[in-house]
Amino acid sequence: MTLRVRLFMVAVLCCTAWSVGLAETPAPVRTPREALGLLKVGNDRFIRNASAPVSLSAGTREELAKGQRPWAMVLSCADSRVPPEHIFNVGLGELFVIRTAGQVMDKSILASLESGAEHLHIPLMVVMGHESCDAVHAATTHKGEPLGPNLDYVVKAIKVGTSRTPAERTELRTAILANVEQVINDALTGSTVLRRLVDTQKLLVVGGYYELASGRVMFSEPASSGPAPKTAPAPKPPAPVRGPVAAREPAPAPAGN
Ligand SMILES: [Zn+2]
Repeated sequence: MTLRVRLFMVAVLCCTAWSVGLAETPAPVRTPREALGLLKVGNDRFIRNASAPVSLSAGTREELAKGQRPWAMVLSCADSRVPPEHIFNVGLGELFVIRTAGQVMDKSILASLESGAEHLHIPLMVVMGHESCDAVHAATTHKGEPLGPNLDYVVKAIKVGTSRTPAERTELRTAILANVEQVINDALTGSTVLRRLVDTQKLLVVGGYYELASGRVMFSEPASSGPAPKTAPAPKPPAPVRGPVAAREPAPAPAGN
């Protein structure tokens, strides 16, 4: 089964009314759209150098020791410049974060995502790539020489878009977006749990692209596991297509990385 998710990144939306004191006193988050809105306004604060203080106090830790109630899952790269809690200006207990080089997926990560969505009832899952990703760069420039079994695993796992032209696959930003797209596809095709939650609208899955210097995260339209529109181009080789994502606006011009 192949799920096609095209990522057309959408810039964050500013919402001043939500930006005051949010990180200190988070309200209960109940819907996927609400969770996505919180990430967007948190990122907007981060971009504007206006991050709200988050509580790391003993009182907060004691309260969280009773239980967690995260409202978004973020699968992102392990790159030290890409910490989701800072990028989205949230505190302890709010994000369920998984980080690997190039946000490479494996079964343990898929199980973690299933656990977050199914048992913690997290309504939003973000797969976030980033500008100048070294892991994706390694995958696009790797000539086949062995790097060792573990690094080889990561490099081979990063998909740079097999349907794209060789030039597109070596353009780093395009490859990063293709990898995010593929990780989402792999998650939804590899997990009946995640797919069911998406089908029942209990889970929203979106892609993200983080710009290192600006701090901006651009989000894709949500992934869908519904039937493909009749106008969708037939994939090659033939395979079931489930819900291509429509573009809200074109992707921005390459950032020159
Ligand atoms: Zn990276």
